[in-house]
Amino acid sequence: MYDLLRQACDIARTAGCSFADARYLEIDEQYLTSRDRALAHNSDNRDCGIGVRVLHGGAWGFASAPGYDAAAVDSAVASALEIARASAHALRDGGVRWAEESPWQAEYRSQCLRDPFTVPLEEKADLLIAANDRMLQNPAIKRAQGYLAFRRLRRWYVNTEGSELHSDVTSSSAMLWAVAVGDGDFQQRSWQAPSVTQGFEAFDRAQFIAEAERIAAEAEEKLTAALAPEGEFDIVTDSENLSLTIHESVGHATELDRVMGYEVSLAGSSFVTRDKLDRFRYGSDQVTLMADNTLQHGLATHGFDDDGVPGQRWPIVEDGILRGYSTGREFAHYVDQQRSRGSCRADHWSSIPIVRIPNLFLMPGRRPLTPDELIGDIEHGLYFEGMDSFSIDQWRLNFQFGGNAVWEIRHGRKTRMLKAALYQSSTPDFWNACDATCDERFWRAHGVTNCGKGDPIQVAQMTHGAAPTRFRRISICRGRN
Ligand SMILES: [Zn+2]
Repeated sequence: MYDLLRQACDIARTAGCSFADARYLEIDEQYLTSRDRALAHNSDNRDCGIGVRVLHGGAWGFASAPGYDAAAVDSAVASALEIARASAHALRDGGVRWAEESPWQAEYRSQCLRDPFTVPLEEKADLLIAANDRMLQNPAIKRAQGYLAFRRLRRWYVNTEGSELHSDVTSSSAMLWAVAVGDGDFQQRSWQAPSVTQGFEAFDRAQFIAEAERIAAEAEEKLTAALAPEGEFDIVTDSENLSLTIHESVGHATELDRVMGYEVSLAGSSFVTRDKLDRFRYGSDQVTLMADNTLQHGLATHGFDDDGVPGQRWPIVEDGILRGYSTGREFAHYVDQQRSRGSCRADHWSSIPIVRIPNLFLMPGRRPLTPDELIGDIEHGLYFEGMDSFSIDQWRLNFQFGGNAVWEIRHGRKTRMLKAALYQSSTPDFWNACDATCDERFWRAHGVTNCGKGDPIQVAQMTHGAAPTRFRRISICRGRN
């Protein structure tokens, strides 16, 4: 499979490029949805093509073409060269400074014990419909929905430095949600199945049914939940809830391209400027946030990135202090690093690679601590589970997050359900208010499949995670009922 990609790199080298790489991608996707007791949608998509990137005169040129033949390769290289030559005229600062990397020859395959693309459609439909049926057995539930999504990304990568890399990664994700209607109100409760780089073996039918029953009962309970109190309270977040907060307030904030002003048009820049590295107190000494593109079953675990750099593990925040950024080879020098962190990815063969959030998670507490003990130390507070609406400013600084289900904590115990609760803070205030997180027995991963970035937008996947975590004296306000 490498021949045409080598040919692309040879043409670029002969044309005087200081660097070039070529990728061929085959993408298979399947998406099924259910509504109530029926399959509502089923689509299969196969897509393939090449992307060629050249660095000429310090400027990038990128072009892509569908399919995989000599004509497509020639036209992509010619377009990429033309773009790079045109862009070089506008350079004022000497152009791209490209971090060195060894040439690699490697293959990476994710676990896939049961290929989701060969599992019979009847079995997949039955899984969704059985879960929906369990939700609808609760008379308060008037709508039950779910989806299953599978993706296989086969990638061949060659660059002018001699790297030849192949990855074959299958990912599976699913979600269920129940809508309860009553007393002039409606409420929704959802459950996200593990979103992982694994095959159909990631899904357990008994777990789908049990979670369907639970979310149906909790959707009904939300109908009569009390309005959340307002003021300052201690809060506890579950893994899923905190995953979104990690994503928005740490993940995007520490993308080095965003810090350098390369990613402003879609969702702003970042308050985490370079002068803060190794100095800034991002959080309390309980807070260690680890990036890890080697995490088992992590959605950003693909063996290597689209700069040809192997997956790595490094701290973003260590014992509360800012220690790192997500980088690609173009950006490493901005923080005086010789080597990229290997976090530059493209979402498609027609997309140019950009710095993306890696797998990123809050490390579990070092001392044994159960959720009951964590909550037991709160007189009056709130427990947030799952994701709901959120908002964060363009600097990734001031934010508010809701929860898909929220409970009141009274005298050290989780009690009645609340609705309309939002926690409001600024990134360093929030992470500095963290005084404890449960130990590794209670740590859970949580996959994100819809991270948007770039202009034109690209959609990436990565995994976050945390154990239940406590934050002291956080401002609570009310959103929609
Ligand atoms: Zn995102």
